[in-house]
Amino acid sequence: MTAFMPRTDCEVAVIGAGPFGLAAASALKAAGVDTLTFGGAMSFWRDHMPRGMRLRSPWHATYIGHTKGPLSLDSYAKVLGISPREPLWLENFVDYGLWIQAQAVPDLDTRRVGRVEKANSGFRLALADGDAVKARRVVVATGLMNQQLIPAVFDGIPRELVSHASEHTGYEAFRGKRVAVIGRGQSACESAVLLKRSGADVELICHGDIHWLGYRALSGKQSWSLRDFLSERLASPSRVGPFPISWLVEVPGFVHRFPEPARAGLNRRSLGAGATGWLKPDFDGIKVNAGNRIISASAKSNGIELRFEKDAVTFDHVLLGTGYRIDIAKLGLFAPDMLAAIARREGLPLLSAGFESSIPGLHFVGASAVGSFGPLMRFTAGTPFAARTVARFIQSGKGRNYAAA
Ligand SMILES: Cc1cc2nc3c(=O)[nH]c(=O)nc-3n(C[C@H](O)[C@H](O)[C@H](O)COP(=O)(O)OP(=O)(O)OC[C@H]3O[C@@H](n4cnc5c(N)ncnc54)[C@H](O)[C@@H]3O)c2cc1C
Repeated sequence: MTAFMPRTDCEVAVIGAGPFGLAAASALKAAGVDTLTFGGAMSFWRDHMPRGMRLRSPWHATYIGHTKGPLSLDSYAKVLGISPREPLWLENFVDYGLWIQAQAVPDLDTRRVGRVEKANSGFRLALADGDAVKARRVVVATGLMNQQLIPAVFDGIPRELVSHASEHTGYEAFRGKRVAVIGRGQSACESAVLLKRSGADVELICHGDIHWLGYRALSGKQSWSLRDFLSERLASPSRVGPFPISWLVEVPGFVHRFPEPARAGLNRRSLGAGATGWLKPDFDGIKVNAGNRIISASAKSNGIELRFEKDAVTFDHVLLGTGYRIDIAKLGLFAPDMLAAIARREGLPLLSAGFESSIPGLHFVGASAVGSFGPLMRFTAGTPFAARTVARFIQSGKGRNYAAA
């Protein structure tokens, strides 16, 4: 067995080994680009999502980079001996990602990147263990890491009383406890169901009614609306966004050419909170408190008190299924002067058609690319397009002098 020999330079450094990082690294390597990838493989899915969770995406929107061929999800299903059944279990998806990594990115360096700095003819990556690596280009694929949205009313409340859904890989510790889940998206609703299954007494608190995605089709209930009929019959492959704009979402290269207000509107309409209809039958026994605004939260001797406009209720714990708000400043990867040089809008970098930011050689894929390429970048379904596009762009520029960086 050969010992792992850390490298000190490469042409392209990919930061992150989730679906987007693995897909980009795999495409870059296949294109013959010297690539080094950093981060724990599928670590967000392994360490920040609850066991027993199922994916909201349809099977064919869950390919990591490869839609067909030996590295597709279908090929892996054959290896596993499972049929392409939806919804896909979290455990199967994580295994699929690890399988892709082992085959396409076997030289993964699992160390964390602490800082990215500009250097002569490229970038210097300072690793968390003190080592450094030089790269002519960097692809940032850090996903939802450090992007949790915590409503201000919970500032200063001790962690044992309030936590974000991303802090849990299981809910067994909440057996017999009274837990308020805040939110009405997939994460909040699925967490509520898993908490109930673990024996917690659950109340879901949210701003409005839960929007059940595809419930009518799943429940077999008949709707006489033409729009419902068409949206069920003509569902887009990834099912991101409402019909018919869901079909626009499927073409991120086209969305990139939209004027900014139109793209922002597409993101707003497509990334609103919603939960898959197959969760609805599991909601029996979960109290849903919709439309009750939380005015304040305070720690009490017997738990955490949530004060509403008309009353107050005390819980043992509050679980925030409040989602994520992406802002690359929160990554802590860039020094202030470098951050200032990255053109951004509302925390998201403005990217060229090659996913390149205003700093030449610095690319962003995944959730950070939503502002430029639309909602598909929040989902694994966006990995084939992003990986192919970045790899083509970088391969075509191979050998260029990036000294301007
Ligand atoms: C509860 C939940 C359910 C979801 N369900 C679905 C679903 O059903 N379908 C779907 O398509 N999407 C789903 N998503 C969205 C999902 O996050 C994205 O689809 C997908 O994970 C994005 O992949 P990514 O590679 O961009 O990011 P991630 O999967 O978040 O991976 C980021 C990677 O970057 C690494 N990293 C971060 N910072 C550093 C650093 N400084 N140095 C080195 N490495 C670093 C991490 O270790 C990690 O490996 C869900 C999200 C949540 C929270």
